[in-house]
Amino acid sequence: MNNYFVILAAGKSKRFHKKKLKQFFIYKNKEIIDHSIEKSLNSKLFKRILVVTNNLQHFKKKKYYRDITIIKGGKERSDSSRNALKYLKKYRPNNILIHDAARPDFTIKLLTSLIHHLKKNKAVIPFIKPNDTIKYKFKNNLFNLNRDKALFTQTPQAFRFKELYELSIKQENKITDEATLFIDKDYKVKFIQGEKQNNKITYLDDIKTSKTFFGLGFDIHKLVRNKKLYLGGIKIPFHSGLKGHSDGDVILHAITDAILGATIKKDIGTYFPNTKKFKNIKSSKMLKPIIKDLYRSNFTINNLDINLICEQPKVSKYREKIINSISKLTTLDKGLINLKGKTVEKLGLIGKEKAIACEVIISISKYD
Ligand code: ZN
Repeated sequence: MNNYFVILAAGKSKRFHKKKLKQFFIYKNKEIIDHSIEKSLNSKLFKRILVVTNNLQHFKKKKYYRDITIIKGGKERSDSSRNALKYLKKYRPNNILIHDAARPDFTIKLLTSLIHHLKKNKAVIPFIKPNDTIKYKFKNNLFNLNRDKALFTQTPQAFRFKELYELSIKQENKITDEATLFIDKDYKVKFIQGEKQNNKITYLDDIKTSKTFFGLGFDIHKLVRNKKLYLGGIKIPFHSGLKGHSDGDVILHAITDAILGATIKKDIGTYFPNTKKFKNIKSSKMLKPIIKDLYRSNFTINNLDINLICEQPKVSKYREKIINSISKLTTLDKGLINLKGKTVEKLGLIGKEKAIACEVIISISKYD
């Protein structure tokens, strides 16, 4: 496994936004660049992941900061790519994949396939067939291109390191992908089926959200002695616990109901009725399939706001732990989860520490 992955992210993305760098724009709950970095790390296919950027500082607070290598980019894309090759030479890589950060939607399956085809080829390029009819203009003459013979090339593009290095060092023209180097020299290139969803984000319009939905969740459980207290999926030391058919976790129940509300899918009782099957079920086990279903339907969560209504325990003491736990369960960034504690001036059942209630509002978007 002598594979190396290079992510080019030094572009100024002038066509995208005047002030914001495209690679750091939020797309499907994270920055565009995070998708490529996290996916390549998760694939476990690479010895090293190299990010070429002119914004080193930006990466210092990232979770994956220690797992990647960062080098400075050049003036043009081809300069950045050459910088990467020069940097990696000392590691003697066999295979190298070069990828534009502007394509966050490739799959790990594509990475595997590219590497697989490198066994018998020196350059492997993913492509898709165009849907549009293409004209080609050359010195004021227009030509019709045969659509069936036209290929739209994508990244990641995979190469044997040695060959790409030699071509890249010698190249003088500005190029927009590495496949160009091989094609210009008439070297053999293996084209494999790319992925329709692996689009390049060029304009702000390319990131579409079709619609935003909101969902509201509410729950209340009675406090009883001799039961453990669970809030937000973690155990909290307290004199009583919440009575219920499950572990009585009001926060997770309210979140589950908020999601079901936003996706117009009835309520928690519909999926987890008070039957024997669900007796004493952990609430995280109720939330997880609902979350899975949410992401599978191409929804993403924008933010989550929670009111925990109780006299005790004090929310401030457990806020961070609860948010961490919810972040883990929902895979939502911690920075998008808010938890507020609300007392009721010692009024009523909640005021007398006989019950705890929770309300949640969630915002979700469906991406095209
Ligand atoms: Zn409940």
